[in-house]
Amino acid sequence: MAETVGIIGGGIIGVCTAYFLHQQGYEVCIFDEHRFDNSCSWGNAGMIVPSHVIPLSAPGVIWQGLKWMFRAESPFAFHFSFNKELLSWIKLFHQHSNAQHVRYAIPHLRDISLLSRRLYQQLALPQQAQTNFETKGLFMLFQTPKVRDEEIKIAQLANANGIRAEVLDAEEVQLMEPDTRLRVLGGIYYPGDALIHPGKWMQFLIAYLQNGGVSFYASHKITDLHIQQKRIQAIVSEKEIFHVDHVVVAAGVQTTSLLKKIQVNIPLQAGKGYSFDVQLPSRKIHIPALLLEGRVAVSPFGNLLRISGTMEIGANLHTINQAKIHGIIKHFYAFYPDLQREIGFTPDQKHLPEIVWSGARPCSPDGLPFIGRIKSFDNLYVATGHGMLGLSLAPATGFLLAQLIGGKSPDVNLQAFDPQRFDT
Ligand SMILES: Cc1cc2nc3c(=O)[nH]c(=O)nc-3n(C[C@H](O)[C@H](O)[C@H](O)COP(=O)(O)OP(=O)(O)OC[C@H]3O[C@@H](n4cnc5c(N)ncnc54)[C@H](O)[C@@H]3O)c2cc1C
Repeated sequence: MAETVGIIGGGIIGVCTAYFLHQQGYEVCIFDEHRFDNSCSWGNAGMIVPSHVIPLSAPGVIWQGLKWMFRAESPFAFHFSFNKELLSWIKLFHQHSNAQHVRYAIPHLRDISLLSRRLYQQLALPQQAQTNFETKGLFMLFQTPKVRDEEIKIAQLANANGIRAEVLDAEEVQLMEPDTRLRVLGGIYYPGDALIHPGKWMQFLIAYLQNGGVSFYASHKITDLHIQQKRIQAIVSEKEIFHVDHVVVAAGVQTTSLLKKIQVNIPLQAGKGYSFDVQLPSRKIHIPALLLEGRVAVSPFGNLLRISGTMEIGANLHTINQAKIHGIIKHFYAFYPDLQREIGFTPDQKHLPEIVWSGARPCSPDGLPFIGRIKSFDNLYVATGHGMLGLSLAPATGFLLAQLIGGKSPDVNLQAFDPQRFDT
């Protein structure tokens, strides 16, 4: 009889993990407190980015976040409160925001990113039409000399680490994006990056797994884990108890509170972001882009354009901050000045919250995910903390976990992603 695996959390990480375990012949059940359609994995920007080899915790980020904290429309901010977990996370984040950590993180992020990009090519390419999978690369666009200089250094670092990056001037960028005017000083082009519609990708994967016999338990909030000696003996929901051979916790930002119940410490904070979609009469933008001065992501899914942005640590997750949305729109129009006419709405329009989606990225304090087994248990695994890279890294995360659970040596060294690296 096949061994069973229970996966807690049906976001992109849980679903991709289910995919590879199912492929290896495990009997997989996956639990979500919602209906598998309401997580951070649905409304994100859909960018698959081996270009992102620099972790969120990089030099200067903390000071930028503090500086921007007081600007209503700023794209990145820390919201301080007297929350012990938040303060200790910020302290760890600060400790890792240095050049030495960046140097340490780059090869680890690169290797898992490149594996994931290859897996997308295998898994998503045959579903290209159904999932809007495109391999046109990614632009990092800038308008100021300061940001240009910083980005050129990052491009050099990427090239030195085997990730191709091309520095372009304004004219070269415009030539590659001929159907709308761009107001830029230039850009870095990363040809190895890709794009997928995250909601359609989730829909495709879930339908594929359901047809293949994976059990999906919607509206099952997991409230506890029963322990017997060094094993998780059962997963407990508000409705039932499930006995499985292995357990994977991929519950996004809620992983911390669930695992705290069994004294496992996984420090995560939510990095809140927004997105919204606009329909254009024809395709105007061909290459996905990050507009660096405003940290806005632009994802063209055919005629549909998704615009996203902001990274707020410690923010209220239940409200839409109108000022942040205004900031995103203002920056978008600053880079694509002719699209305001086509899109119609102005940055200060009142009814935007109705079309705005928000999501909570599960952010680790060192910008690296948590992937691996919890040492004090023989059968408990964690897969979370991917921050702004969850969609990008999901296939590799699932693939590597399936190798670990199957007792194989993983294709990528997982040492840097050890879930217990912050234990003292
Ligand atoms: C605006 C924005 C843009 C982004 N753009 C990109 C991008 O372009 N590229 C990229 O790589 N990443 C991007 N991200 C990040 C990416 O979306 C996340 O890293 C990723 O979705 C995290 O996936 P996850 O499966 O870990 O968590 P989630 O998607 O949050 O899924 C966790 C699931 O666990 C469930 N759950 C929680 N607790 C329990 C419990 N106790 N019992 C049962 N179920 C539970 C939740 O209901 C949820 O469905 C973006 C994020 C945002 C907000």
